[in-house]
Order: sequence, then C-alpha cells, then structure tokens
Amino acid sequence: MMPALEPRIILYNGIIATQNAAQPGAQAVAIGNGKILAVGRVEDVMHLAGPDTENIDLDGRMVVPGFIDTHIHFYEWALKRQGVKLDDLTHLEALLSRVRKAAESSPPDQWIMGQGWNETDWTEQRMPTRETLDKAAPDHPILLWRCDLHLAAANSTALRLAGITAETPDPPEGRIERDTAGEPTGILRELAINLVRQAVTPPTADQVTKAFEDGIKALHRRGVTGIHDVRLMADRDGASAFQTFQMLDHDGRLDLRCWVTFPGHHLDKVIDLGLRTGFGNDRLRVGHLKFFSDGGMGARTAWLIDPYLDADRGMPLTDMDILAQTIDKADKAGLSVMVHAVGDRANRELINIFESLESRRSLSAQPSPAIPHRIEHVQMLRPEDAARLRSINVALCVTPANMVLDMNLIDLALGKNGKWTYPFRLLMDTGAPVMFSSDCPVCDPDPLLGIHAAVTRQRADNTPEKGWYPGSRVTVAEALKAYTWTPAVIHNAGYIGTIAPGKRADMVVLSRNILAIPPSTLKDVHVDMTLFDGRIVHRHY
Ligand SMILES: [Zn+2]
Repeated sequence: MMPALEPRIILYNGIIATQNAAQPGAQAVAIGNGKILAVGRVEDVMHLAGPDTENIDLDGRMVVPGFIDTHIHFYEWALKRQGVKLDDLTHLEALLSRVRKAAESSPPDQWIMGQGWNETDWTEQRMPTRETLDKAAPDHPILLWRCDLHLAAANSTALRLAGITAETPDPPEGRIERDTAGEPTGILRELAINLVRQAVTPPTADQVTKAFEDGIKALHRRGVTGIHDVRLMADRDGASAFQTFQMLDHDGRLDLRCWVTFPGHHLDKVIDLGLRTGFGNDRLRVGHLKFFSDGGMGARTAWLIDPYLDADRGMPLTDMDILAQTIDKADKAGLSVMVHAVGDRANRELINIFESLESRRSLSAQPSPAIPHRIEHVQMLRPEDAARLRSINVALCVTPANMVLDMNLIDLALGKNGKWTYPFRLLMDTGAPVMFSSDCPVCDPDPLLGIHAAVTRQRADNTPEKGWYPGSRVTVAEALKAYTWTPAVIHNAGYIGTIAPGKRADMVVLSRNILAIPPSTLKDVHVDMTLFDGRIVHRHY
C-alpha cells in the first residue's frame, strides 16, 4: 500500500539488519515525518520517491537501528571532554605547552581542566607535578586527570583553593603524594582527587548546555542515538544534568533518547513527588533509581564468594536486608531500580532479593513495574546463580569494553576464578535480557568497541591471540541485539529498536557488513551516517 506521505529520504542498495523478526533483511528504507515509512527490496521502496525525496545510494553499506548505550555517565563525560585534550601527547613538554596555551586564552581565576594523559606512552615517563604545572601556568588553578581517572595532577593554586597542605591527612581510599619534605607534589590518587574537585567552580548553565550539545554530536559520530544516563554525581550536578536535558527537549534540540536515572538516596523524594519509572516522552524519560551492593575489582571491594588471591573477600556496600526493603519500597511505588553488583557474592545476594520479591509479588498481586529492575555490571557470576535468572523478571546490563581493561587485573586478583567474570555467553544463554553499555567515561562510548570486545574477547590489538576465556564469546548478531532491540523492548520503547514501518527513524549506516566480516576487523568499521528521528545528524561519506 502506498503511504500518503512523500519520503524525505530513501536509503537504498544497503544491507538493512532490521532486528524485526517479521522482516529480518531488506535493501531499502523510506523515511518521512521522523518515522520509517517503508522497508523492503529496492524495487518495493524506490517507487515511493517523490520530487523532493533525497535518494541515498548506500553502495552495499549496512544499516542497523540506532545504538542505545544502556549505562553511561553522560554529564561527567560531556563536561570533561570540554577540557584540554591530553590523550595524544608524546612527552610532558607537550602537555605543559597545551596548559600554557589554555592559560593564555582564559582569565586567571578560571579552572584549567583536562584528561587523558598517559606518561607510559611518553618518551620520558615523567608525570606532571605541582612544580612543572606552576611553571606553565602559576595563576590558574589546574587539575589534569590521567587516562585511567584514578590519578590526577594539580598545581599550587588548585591545592591552595582546595585547602590541601602538608598537614592535610589522606582521605579514606585516597592518597595525597608528598615529597621527602612532606609537601604535596600535586599528584593525587583515587578519592584524594575529590578534595580538589570540590573546589572547582561549577560550570554555568550555558557551559553545561554547550557541553551537552557537543557530547550529543560526539555520540552521533559513534552511532549512538539513545542513552540510559546513570547519575553518580553530587546533587548540584545531578539537578543541572536533568534541567539541561529538559531545556534541550523543550527547545526541540534533544537529538537523543534519554532515560535519566536518579541516585538511590533520593528515593523518598522521588516517591513523595509521585514520579514513576517511564514518565516522560519519547526523548526524555524517568528511568531507574540507582543503588550499589558492592564495590569494584580494582580496589578489591567487589564482594566475592572465594577470597581474592591477594586480599580478603571484599564486602557489601549496603546491608542486604536494608537493600531488600529499599527495593521493595521502590517497587511498590512504581519505580524500577538498577543495582550495581560486581562480585559473585554480591550478584548471588541480589538474585536472592529479586527472587523473594517475585515470590511475594505472586502472592500479593502486586503489579510488576512498567520496566524491569536491572543488575548493573554482573561482572562475576557462578553458573548456578545464572540459572536462577531464568525465573525472575530482571534485566542485565554489562560493559564488554571494560573487560579489555580488566583482563590483567582479574588474572592477578582472581587467577582461575576469572573464568566466572564477564560471563556474556552464560548470561545470554539464560534467556534473560542482556543489554550492552560503555560505562563511559570508563570506556569510550563507541558501540563497535563493545561489540569487538564481546565477540573476540580480545584487546583492540587482537591479544590474547585465542581470546580471554574464549568460551564466553557471543556472536555479532547477539551483540547487535544487546545494543538495539533488547534495550528498546525492555524499556517499553516500542517506537525504536527495530527498522520497521511506523518506528521512529533512528538508524546507523556502517561502512561494512559487521555480520559478515572477520570479527578481528570490527574495530575498523566506521559509522558513515547517523539518523535521528528521520534527520541525518552525522554524515561521513
Ligand atoms: Zn557506571
């Protein structure tokens, strides 16, 4: 049947991976009024073209639904990438000259911030210090994060504004490095960085808006058209993030489908306001309440069943009974939760909580939340616990690219028990919904990096040669689904996630057919075009 509307765009001669079971493959797609009008063979679609239709020859490129990054810290990333770029340097002098340049073009009370330096890549492996930074820019406060975000360098002005002196004790889980005379060197480790961060002047509304618009464009370049924004920030920043999303949406400038998470400690406020998960429109919605059950592998605070090779078993971050009561309270108020769980013990306990919630629900006729509760990271899980996921209505969010950063760490911390970590195959086989994410800024939000990691279980340089626990690999088709169809379905967003008539036209054109190329070459695939709501928001060819 002929649609009444003339298509604005027709993409043809492509390989359309629709993610729609009723029509898995196609060669052309017509778009108009922000929606997909028709999908099919070239001859089925081309005759719909009118005089004003833009016909785009894909020349064999692949089209997939817009990627959804289901765990990203967007505010933090968007703001940080506005700072001085430091990830492409070859020596300390180059870093100092960028700092000098930034100082020349900004008033002296303005903070100079940057991230991404990595002295192990430099010809001479010297970190920036208070002393060297003071020489480059003595008047501006400076804070520069190392690429791993676990270490930062500050100058004297920044330390003074933060009140850090030789007498300042190290904060819990942080270290202020000192010279032989006991004076701070400017190097701050882990939570000591926050002492300086608290002194940073908050960005203005205009600065946040600009950072968000730039960040959204940067996501489009990676083919990302939807995010689940996870809030870790202090309340000041959290409000600023949500307000900025709302203002962009109101102005029609929010070219991104955003589910916004609230920090768990706001549960009572959110209940008092009567907000429910799912509230909003097709661009901006209230998502989950975020809670933690344990810490991480790096700090040995992930809660394990067996001890670490070099530490005890980690620990719960919250009392499990209290966490169970809190989840119950949220559930009754129509709010879905996402709970951070890394270690196998934390995941076991959390599954216990969700099992008992489900069994009480069946007795009390309490309705299920509109969107399932989620477990975040699921970094380590025993097979006997995975089997229990089948009978509970919970979605799983994992970060494949993080595995690449963690391989050495886990070999060292867990030895052969590492076989239970990043268990993507095991999770997929349970049939529970598995969603992929970047946990950005932990990893770059490029979904192709995540797909490469999950499919090869190798680093970008294709090491280790046979893959790290290769039995846990998934297929490209499964990875693609975990970045598109699954998050859309799980979040009740039937208007996206597939390329089918009537859906919003969020799509990505990839340079190659990722279902057909050798997995080792996945990282060389480009995002040639991104469409959001029927508009081309990024084009590279
Ligand atoms: Zn995170």
